[in-house]
Amino acid sequence: MLAADFARIQPEVSRLEKFVDSWHVDVMDGKFVPNNTLGKFPPEFVKRLKTKKPRDVHLMVENPSKYFEAYALAGCRSITFHCEARCNFVKAIDAIHDLGVKAGVSLKPKTPVSKIEKILPLVDIVLVMSVEPGFGGQSFIPSALDKISELRRKDAGDIAVDGGINEITGKQCAEAGANILIAGNALFKARDAEKFAAALKQ
Ligand code: ZN
Repeated sequence: MLAADFARIQPEVSRLEKFVDSWHVDVMDGKFVPNNTLGKFPPEFVKRLKTKKPRDVHLMVENPSKYFEAYALAGCRSITFHCEARCNFVKAIDAIHDLGVKAGVSLKPKTPVSKIEKILPLVDIVLVMSVEPGFGGQSFIPSALDKISELRRKDAGDIAVDGGINEITGKQCAEAGANILIAGNALFKARDAEKFAAALKQ
């Protein structure tokens, strides 16, 4: 969603709806990352969005637990928080599950898998950041591939990759063991979105 033309977001979602499996909403507080999208993507945004596809929320915020309830009530399928944020991992995962939502944990590019190893059996999704969080349109950081392979060897459940995903990097991530590819610019600015989505799914 970060890559979408926000002034035309509903028509953009309707245009691409049939090509995607879910929508990924990047919530930033201006503290955990320099950018702030709380005004753009508040819980009401998630609630009001007209779509038949699930909505996943990625919280790039300093104090994630503050936002769990509001986004869960807005109807999202999953909530992902950052392991570098201020929170007790186990409590955060329990709180998200108690709201009836899938729980995800995300790693910045420089954070090792060892930081979340203990909670791997508890989370539904591990989201590997393949760019520094905060802005769209960045290039893929190749070391993310090693992290994906390591997570796959360690039996992580869903492994998602976020940042710089296109046909080439998407294929590399899938080969390394990722099963959720989060595309921004490559989808919204694709000349042929149907073709791009089909390539990624393949
Ligand atoms: Zn994201």
